[in-house]
Amino acid sequence: MKFALTAELIAEARQFELRSACGDCMYWSAARETCWHDWPDIGQRRWPLDAPDPVTGAVPVDVAFCKEFELR
Ligand code: SF4
Repeated sequence: MKFALTAELIAEARQFELRSACGDCMYWSAARETCWHDWPDIGQRRWPLDAPDPVTGAVPVDVAFCKEFELR
């Protein structure tokens, strides 16, 4: 599910120490650097939410939350 990446969302994620990215999910394989379910992880893998694109440096305008995320 995608949502607009607003300043309010970024602030609340920091304030409440939100965990929503693949790196904090029990289905993430660090060794394989991919999801055990092979979901496309573009978007929900990014952390922090407002991290720029590592290739282009572009600032993200939206954020993806995976419905299968399970906190590790
Ligand atoms: S289940 Fe979703 S949040 Fe978890 S590792 Fe896979 S793509 Fe990422």
